[in-house]
Amino acid sequence: MKVVVIGGGIIGLLTALRLKQKGVDVLILDKGKVGAEASWAGAGILCPIHPWLYPDDFTKLVQASLDLYPDLQAELESETGHDIQRIQSGLLIPCFVDDKVKHQEAAQAWSDKFGWDMSRLNADEAREIEATLSDTVEEALLWQDVYQLRNPELLKAVLLYLQKLDVPIIEGCEVSSLLEDGKSHIAGVQAVDGRKFKADAVLLAAGSWSAALAGQSGFDLPVYPVKGQIVLLKTKPNTLKHIIKHDDAYLVPRRDGRILVGASMENVGFKRGNTQNVVQSLLAATYRMLPSLKDAEVEQQWMGFRPGSPDGLPFLGEVKSKPGLWVATGHYRNGVALAPITAKVMADWILGIQPALNMGAFLPNRVLQESSDLGYPQA
Ligand SMILES: Cc1cc2nc3c(=O)[nH]c(=O)nc-3n(C[C@H](O)[C@H](O)[C@H](O)COP(=O)(O)OP(=O)(O)OC[C@H]3O[C@@H](n4cnc5c(N)ncnc54)[C@H](O)[C@@H]3O)c2cc1C
Repeated sequence: MKVVVIGGGIIGLLTALRLKQKGVDVLILDKGKVGAEASWAGAGILCPIHPWLYPDDFTKLVQASLDLYPDLQAELESETGHDIQRIQSGLLIPCFVDDKVKHQEAAQAWSDKFGWDMSRLNADEAREIEATLSDTVEEALLWQDVYQLRNPELLKAVLLYLQKLDVPIIEGCEVSSLLEDGKSHIAGVQAVDGRKFKADAVLLAAGSWSAALAGQSGFDLPVYPVKGQIVLLKTKPNTLKHIIKHDDAYLVPRRDGRILVGASMENVGFKRGNTQNVVQSLLAATYRMLPSLKDAEVEQQWMGFRPGSPDGLPFLGEVKSKPGLWVATGHYRNGVALAPITAKVMADWILGIQPALNMGAFLPNRVLQESSDLGYPQA
């Protein structure tokens, strides 16, 4: 069987890896460089932001994915020698008296329901474990079991493994259309430069750019770019121990002392670049939580386009009207957390093995419910 994967972000790369391991002849095409878009730019937090706002099937998908991470990390390390820097740093949500949304009750209910160990800390307890927290913090919610990883390291390890398995990757190859066999069955893809690549199945994993290809092929896939800007601070190791998240920003402390501050949620199309306004507001939110970071050096800034979807959920499965065309995109804020289960489910499914999880909420032709609760910018 031959499969063409459109898009070499973490979703396309890891699914291609799993397909290859199952004996599939797989080819990855990317319009630019692989692993250079959202999957590179992201923060690598291995837990959704405010997961209690999502449907239960989403939590089950996330949990299945997070359960696969220890083995994936070990597999990548033993096959490539590369460390993806997945570490357990815990997640702490400070609460302020003037919080617009009080998350405490919903967070506790979600944690109890799904077996996540959550502690409610008073102000003193919170500052005991995170000394630089502002003294205006009233209370904090703590999940010790939350992990993070460094996206560029994950991508590097997956790419090394793909190389080892001789999986062909063609960069600078933009797919412009899908080929059909005359009976609506997908037969391959065509690139902008006219090259044709035949396949028995095609996986559309083109991130924020997926909607255009779908539309061109005659089906609606409402994926749209949600820009996220990030600022990188340079501090001494252990300045911060936990991932800290508040409504307006999150901070992710890396092992080397760098602290990643993210991320905006902007509906500005594919407009690249960091803007002063957003960078300043991310830093203002940072200083509110951790005033002593005012003196930290700003080392770098970047941005990426999350593949957004109207209900915040990914699109996974076969396109009913186009047999042979599979979709794995729209992972929005959770593509790195969801990559292992996406890759496993999609590789199995393409080969005819039905997923054990209920995938109804993620099918490409599902009835969409706009999720205003999640507060996502709409297309
Ligand atoms: C600032 C920011 C912070 C984030 N933080 C987190 C987090 O903490 N945790 C988490 O789990 N997720 C996070 N995310 C989300 C996560 O990064 C994404 O959901 C995930 O990377 C999406 O992966 P992807 O492979 O679908 O898309 P991408 O990585 O964008 O890859 C898509 C690829 O498709 C290629 N492509 C597009 N069109 C074509 C075409 N026509 N032909 C060929 N190739 C094409 C592109 O060049 C690109 O390489 C964050 C994202 C951002 C931007």
